[in-house]
Amino acid sequence: MPLFGAHMSIAGGHFHAIEKAQPYRCEAVQLFTKSTNQWQAKDLSDEEVALFRKKYSESRLQMAMGHDSYLINLASPDEALYRKSIESFILEYQRSERLGLDYLITHPGSHVDSGEEAGLARIAQALDETHRRCPGFRVKVLLENTAGQGFNLGHRFEHLAEILERVREPRRIGVCLTPAISLPRAIRSPPSANIEPPCASSIGSWASNDCVPFI
Ligand SMILES: [Zn+2]
Repeated sequence: MPLFGAHMSIAGGHFHAIEKAQPYRCEAVQLFTKSTNQWQAKDLSDEEVALFRKKYSESRLQMAMGHDSYLINLASPDEALYRKSIESFILEYQRSERLGLDYLITHPGSHVDSGEEAGLARIAQALDETHRRCPGFRVKVLLENTAGQGFNLGHRFEHLAEILERVREPRRIGVCLTPAISLPRAIRSPPSANIEPPCASSIGSWASNDCVPFI
């Protein structure tokens, strides 16, 4: 049975996201691990982490997931931006692990005219480096499908499937599907016949932003 949840603000401290989810009887919550329009973040203190974990364990929530910064582009062909994105993503991954989140959601990224193949390879390399530098982490990365504006990857199921196939530790990766984006696209251009639903067993989350609930 899917869990019902919502994205909640961390203004005033991460634990606020847990508290704000309570009146809505949420079973899951999503939050940003830090400010989304900045690369850096103040270190989480032990007290902040302990308070968040205490509130989470005392709540009725069964799942908590982070969403990373929109500045990150793990598919960038620009070496400087690519390295900055990896370092920032690892920071978010570490913060998610410390907070005890179950998932960290990320948008695959933009290949910026370097080609889909090159972009998908960059993403897989970035995820491999993240896993290599963060052994034993419990938090799992979820790749979110996108609307495909510009050169953004992730608007075809095949993109997500290829990343899952390329990474060395696919068990540490899953998928977050946004029906408002994925279903209309899937109906207009269904995946080719030989593609398994990427990720039927890898779907960790469904996001319903900007769409009318239909289930
Ligand atoms: Zn998103």
